[in-house]
Order: sequence, then C-alpha cells, then structure tokens
Amino acid sequence: MSEIISLLEQLIAFESVTPYDAGTQAFMIRYLEALGFTCEVYNHPPVSNFFARWGTREPLLLFAGHTDVVAAGDLSAWHTPPFELHEKDGMLYGRGVADMKGSLAAMLIAAKHFVAEASETIGSLGFLITSGEEGDDFDCGTPHIVTALANQGCFHQKTYCILGEPSSTEAVGDMIKIGRRGSLTATIRIVGKQGHVAYPQFAINPIHEISSVLHCLATHSWDEGNAYFPPTTLQITHIHAGGLGGNVIPGELGLQFNVRYSTEQTDSSIRDQVEAYFKEHGVTAEISWRLNGTPFLTSNGRLLDTTVNVITATKNKTPILSTTGGTSDGRFIAPFGIETLELGPVNKTIHQANECVLKSDLVCLANLYYSIAKALLQP
Ligand SMILES: [Zn+2]
Repeated sequence: MSEIISLLEQLIAFESVTPYDAGTQAFMIRYLEALGFTCEVYNHPPVSNFFARWGTREPLLLFAGHTDVVAAGDLSAWHTPPFELHEKDGMLYGRGVADMKGSLAAMLIAAKHFVAEASETIGSLGFLITSGEEGDDFDCGTPHIVTALANQGCFHQKTYCILGEPSSTEAVGDMIKIGRRGSLTATIRIVGKQGHVAYPQFAINPIHEISSVLHCLATHSWDEGNAYFPPTTLQITHIHAGGLGGNVIPGELGLQFNVRYSTEQTDSSIRDQVEAYFKEHGVTAEISWRLNGTPFLTSNGRLLDTTVNVITATKNKTPILSTTGGTSDGRFIAPFGIETLELGPVNKTIHQANECVLKSDLVCLANLYYSIAKALLQP
C-alpha cells in the first residue's frame, strides 16, 4: 500500500494543469524504463504524449490515460494544498487523485508486478498517455498519438485498451464504461433584415423565422436508444438576437445546440434531419457542425469478459456496464478496432475542490488492473 501512496504523492506534486504536463510524464517514463519498457515521446505542443511498451507479442493491452488535471480553482475552498497529497480518515486528497493520477499510480504498480512475474507472457503491455485530455487541446493528445502509432503498425489484431477514467460511482469497480455517446454541436446563423417594428413589411425578423424550426428541434424524438445507450437528445445551449432597442427588428440570430447521440444515429443522420427541418420551414441558415466524438461501444469481447470476471471475483459483485457521462478519449481509440473500456476510481469529487479517493479503493484498483493484465496476457 505504501508503494502506491508514494507514487501518487509524487504524481500529485507535478502542477500539470491542462494542457501542460509539468514533468509528470518524464517521471512515468523513468519508472517504466526501469521496469524494462521502451518509451517513445509523441509531443505535439503544448501537449505532451508518450507510448510505452513491454513485450513484442500479441495480444497488446494498453493502459491509457492523461497526466493533465483541471485547475485547482479557488484555493480557499481547499482544506489542504491541491498539489500535495494529504490523507485523512482513509481518504486521499489532491487535484487529480481521482481524475486520474490515482489510476496512473495504480497502472504503474500493476505493471511493476505484472512484469516481475511475466516470464511466460504471451502478450505485451503498453501505456498510452497524454496531457491534452481536460482542455481544448485534445486534438494534440490522444488522436495525435493513436494515429501515429496506427500508421506505424503498432496495433495488433488483438489490441485491448483500459482507460483509467473515474468510472465508478460508490466503490471502485461498481461501474465500468463500455462506451460513450457521440457528441455533435451545431452553430447556426440566420440572417434576416433589420428594420423598424412599425414597418415589419420592410424587414425580415430572424426570431420569427426560426420559431417553428426551434419547436421541431426541441421536440424531435430521435430514437428510443437501445440496450446499451439511452435515447439521443438535443439541447439548445445558446440563442441570441436583438438587444438593439424596443423598436428594432433584429437583423441576425445566432443559435447553438448539442446532440448527445446513441449508436442508433450517425452524425450524418442527425445533420440530415436538422437540415430537413430548416428546408421544410423555408428558413435559410448557415450551419457549421463540429463533431466532438462519434459513439463507441464495446458490447462484447475478451477484454470485457475478462474485466467483468476479475471484478466479480474480487469484489463479489458484478459491475454495471454503462455508457453514461460525457465524451472520453475512448472515442479516439475505439475507431482503430481496439476493444476499449473504462475502469477507474469513484467520480463523485472529480474537478471539484477537495478532490478525493478512498485509499483502499486505489489499492483495489491496482489489483484489478494487475489481475486483468494477467488474465488477458498470460497463458
Ligand atoms: Zn479524466
């Protein structure tokens, strides 16, 4: 137990506020090289990334995660300094203990014990680490390194990935994420014609123009979801027009909405439906789309079976398989045919002041990672 705490203490001390790594990865690389891993850096400033690998054979299990953390925020809200690990009543406090330096410490310990006993290993163990997960620089992070590795032919037919995102709700392993919904954002501009409210015949009011389309967008029933995903939803997040005075018809309107979608939809099926509504109502709009992530799902396979079996045997309880929550870097990994799931600490305090994790949960997490690697990679 002291081993993982000491590792976490060192990881927390790096003030790696996104997208900066602040030395966390150099520390991890030194640790992994000492275990016999080969490490390669794939930096894409301002983001740092690295890939580490032990072994040459199939299958390959990747431990994936991020060294960046969100800012500490208001320091007076913290009971202890955020970049120092503190323990109280069995809980560990510090920025990133749950999201996700605790997972990184658990992965390093798991790798150490795995490598020490892995004489008959048939597979390889890898680390896929970025500092660009929490902020807006994610393009320089996981997508950059995964694409580079795929181009080099690093991934085997059988490559598995465990992302250490905090997936658990009450106790470690009670929930694993087997996928995530897709996320698509639309930014819309409607150009009308500004004018005097008393002379509407000489103006085009974009608020009136969009009103019927808004209703369709807000009430459209996209799908019922499926066995793994809740129904697709659209939420309007921003609408702006006018403010020019009580007697002015505005000349322009801005609108933004986001769609969280299940595997029952594709980004193009959503775009087609939205564009059809505008057309149907005769509203001309400039629509720019941003695809934040396509949905991914690992509904079956050896990694999932192994993970469920290991958790059930260790915790005496079968984990809930879920696709809830925001997007994760799994969206960039799964499209390469890599069986991907997320297993990490309890997520109750992530991104908050006094972020914390139960010490015994971290030890348990290291055990789970180790047992999964052993079951998956050893004969
Ligand atoms: Zn995270």
